[in-house]
Amino acid sequence: RAKERGAGHVEVYAAHMHDMVVSRLELQIRLREALAGGEFYLEYQPVVDLGTSQVTAVEALVRWDRDGEEVGPGAFLGAAEESGLIVPLGEWILREACEKVAVWRLSDWDIGLSVNLSVKQVLSPRFVRTVEGVLAETGLPAEVLTLEVDEEVLLDDQGDAVARLGELRELGVRLAIDDYGMGYASLAHLRELSVDAIKIDPSFIADLGRDDTVTLLTHTIIQLGRDLGVQVVAEGIERPEQLEQLRVMGCDHGQGFLVARPMPASGVESLVGGEAGANL
Ligand code: C2E
Ligand code: MG
Ligand code: MG
Ligand code: MG
Repeated sequence: RAKERGAGHVEVYAAHMHDMVVSRLELQIRLREALAGGEFYLEYQPVVDLGTSQVTAVEALVRWDRDGEEVGPGAFLGAAEESGLIVPLGEWILREACEKVAVWRLSDWDIGLSVNLSVKQVLSPRFVRTVEGVLAETGLPAEVLTLEVDEEVLLDDQGDAVARLGELRELGVRLAIDDYGMGYASLAHLRELSVDAIKIDPSFIADLGRDDTVTLLTHTIIQLGRDLGVQVVAEGIERPEQLEQLRVMGCDHGQGFLVARPMPASGVESLVGGEAGANL
């Protein structure tokens, strides 16, 4: 009897696994169609200089218009990475964002662009050539583009991600570590790496002024960034006290809902040369 029940459990489990695999495959197929059908679009979140309140850059963030509903990257990036679709999708994102920002810069607006990369993209064989090609096609100066990678890319010794990032940097583009502070020994790591910017993880900013350890760590990261000549960007600023504290700590740049939410390209156009909002 127990055996029967056990077998039943295995069957239920197997059926569940089967459903999960099928729906994952369905999503992967659907995403391929979405890319071909032009269902992806970008939003841009302003990054401001905390000293002057000027918008200095925008970060491109991908969205999917699935039958009129906005789907965020958290719901599909994993599947796009698994299937390898992230490589052509990432190329589309890079080209689309570079084209937009190149046009914005024509009106004498010295605005920068940040684009997120996934490890799969960095390790894909022609990636460095792709970036070089997109810059040439769009006329965007290399130093205007910042490529953001998560910390774990740098901890990965198997792939030659670090070497590839070095080649990218030789093109003149800037590199940023995204979600900084979440990995192991990350402060020690920073000393060895050639990066231009670090983006402090929003979980630190969330507890700023509320948790002494977090506040001290944030302060230390900002100091270390300054000592090493690395730009520091605080992510996830939602409350005025956080903004104030970051300013006092000497943090260069910030991003967050308080400053400005991610917005469509048309929203960025209305910011030209100006400040991000009344909240500053
Ligand atoms: P990320 O690169 O760290 O981007 C910041 C995320 O935080 C964005 O979420 C943004 O909407 C959100 N955010 C900004 N300010 C605030 C705030 O004040 N409070 C809160 N709660 N959230 C804030 P989003 O757009 O859902 O993107 C999530 C992640 O997906 C990104 O994290 C990035 O790792 C990835 N991603 C987004 N677009 C792309 C892309 O084009 N390519 C790749 N490879 N990854 C992308
Ligand atoms: Mg990012
Ligand atoms: Mg990221
Ligand atoms: Mg981040």
